Amino acid sequence: MNEKAKAVAGRLRVKAAGVGAAAQKAIADAGRKTGDTIEITKLNVRIFEINSEVNVSFRKLGELMYAAYAGEETADEAVDALLREIDGKKEEAAALRRRISELKKERPCPVCGSSCGEGDRFCRKCGAEVAGGDGK
Ligand SMILES: [Zn+2]
Repeated sequence: MNEKAKAVAGRLRVKAAGVGAAAQKAIADAGRKTGDTIEITKLNVRIFEINSEVNVSFRKLGELMYAAYAGEETADEAVDALLREIDGKKEEAAALRRRISELKKERPCPVCGSSCGEGDRFCRKCGAEVAGGDGK
């Protein structure tokens, strides 16, 4: 190979290596994003289940209230247990929502406190500028 051809081949090799690294990074980023998306989906499914369980507890609570209204004996402990169960499930759902927020890299608006997305420069609710937003 003459010198000129060697120089061109050398430049092409460097370029190919760069493209390979960029492609690998893109694949790694996509993999990480896919993992987050799957986790967010699982968390949303769990939140949906918790809400269904809370609705069952609310129905039982309503039945106890109606029984009391209708003059039947109702155990206070049963009412307390249902109220505590509902509190616990609401806390669990809130924790899962916080985790989703983390995964979506959401942060609170400095003015109104509503949740802003990773790339938001301005709050979608009040329009205030959000620190760290890159507008991408
Ligand atoms: Zn705001």
